[in-house]
Amino acid sequence: MKLSSLLSRFSEPETLKMAKLGRELRAQGVDVIDLSLGEPDFDTPEHIKTAAKKAVDDNYSHYTPVPGYLDAREAVCAKLKRDNNLDYKPENIVLSTGAKQSLANVILATVDQGDEVIIPAPFWVTYSELVKIAGGIPVILPTKMENKYKISAAELEAAITSKTRVFLFSSPCNPSGSVYNYDELKSLADVFAKNPEIFIISDEIYEYINFVGKHESIAQFDAIKNQVIIVNGLSKGYAMTGYRLGYIAANVDVAKGCEKLQGQFTSGTNAVTQRATIDALVGDQTPTLEMTKEFERRKKRVLELVSEVPGWKLAEPDGAFYVFPQVSAYFGKSDGTTTINDADDLCMYLLNVAHVSTVTGRAFGTPDCIRLSFANSLPKIEEAYKRIKTALAKLN
Ligand code: PMP
Repeated sequence: MKLSSLLSRFSEPETLKMAKLGRELRAQGVDVIDLSLGEPDFDTPEHIKTAAKKAVDDNYSHYTPVPGYLDAREAVCAKLKRDNNLDYKPENIVLSTGAKQSLANVILATVDQGDEVIIPAPFWVTYSELVKIAGGIPVILPTKMENKYKISAAELEAAITSKTRVFLFSSPCNPSGSVYNYDELKSLADVFAKNPEIFIISDEIYEYINFVGKHESIAQFDAIKNQVIIVNGLSKGYAMTGYRLGYIAANVDVAKGCEKLQGQFTSGTNAVTQRATIDALVGDQTPTLEMTKEFERRKKRVLELVSEVPGWKLAEPDGAFYVFPQVSAYFGKSDGTTTINDADDLCMYLLNVAHVSTVTGRAFGTPDCIRLSFANSLPKIEEAYKRIKTALAKLN
């Protein structure tokens, strides 16, 4: 029977595909080290779990308002004030089932058939696919390792056409770990101020996992605040990936558009999760700071480990929990049976020979790189790089 043509217009997330292949190998008894997935390896902080348990006992088991409970949206506003000095009201906020749904909502709410969406590469795998689902055209803007994979105002300006509707980026960036500072964001904001019809979707989900100081949001520039749609969530900073809580902060029209879409797709997100969200956002932030410290400790070690891999080149990540080395020195090499033509081949080789799962840079729009997560314990990370080096040494 015929399925819809929509299904052939986009691909499944490469990150989930690699994790699935890793699981299949593991089921065959192979000891696979997973450096492919994008989730903290920590448990959710105790006080948040306590709030979730209480919500169950208090019978938070009914449908919730589509944009989220009022007090949960107030908690988001309080967080935006505390951390980002941004003023938003609950009517600007929509809670969703993960930042992934928030992104789907905002893209469907802003992109029409044939609209262009500028996405600097490397970018998170889902961005381009959601744009395709919406009928838009992803316009991928390459960046350079020498510039820490960030775009300049001039590059942005040159990419804008009369069809540009949205600019979509993450800072800290998954996969490169690049972080835009105040001056860099200000220069981009100046370009957007001259183009008031363009929305800026600012994915700030790695906000707390920042190794260079204060997180800066592009929403802080008053001239463009109305154009900015902040996307954030609890998955990364609070180790709550399975709770599924994302949110947006945007102008009221965008928020209403997202509410309308969500009202047909999923309704309000999980009641228990929303109660736990309040405790996460306005409760004790110490566990988040501790997790970030641990990520930073691992990052330092991973930088040493990557520097010991012959031929890999790296821009040091300033945030998130990935390294994104350029690995093209291995393209064209072979171990006698397998030839490595590209980053996809290298990832498969590392999975099959080193038993380490990674993700091809092609999925992130940067095909000479691969992504390796450091959201795994240091002993596992050490072992993974040992195996990677041994496997790569067989390639000539
Ligand atoms: N944005 C980025 C950049 C991400 O890396 C992720 C998760 N990998 C998400 C959004 C989605 O997060 P979630 O749906 O778990 O909130």
